[in-house]
Amino acid sequence: MTKKSPLANLRIFEHFPQKDKCPICGTNDDVACILVGVDGTNTHGDGDIEEALPVHVRCLCDYKLARINQNVGVVYFKLKDRVTAQGKT
Ligand SMILES: [Zn+2]
Repeated sequence: MTKKSPLANLRIFEHFPQKDKCPICGTNDDVACILVGVDGTNTHGDGDIEEALPVHVRCLCDYKLARINQNVGVVYFKLKDRVTAQGKT
């Protein structure tokens, strides 16, 4: 039996849309990205149609930005501009 890679269903785009900015790093650097669904935009309730934003794969792999909130039950990423802002205060 062949094992299916956990990444098999991940659709990776080689180019980042230049009109958008990655919500984590705030740039539109032209590197690989994935589309991430936006909370509250699935108006049909079926999960098939919703708004999505491009996010760099490199940003999703930055362990320094990744966090888990066990109370809320979410995995999330700190936004770099906010990390920098917090560091300056
Ligand atoms: Zn990014």
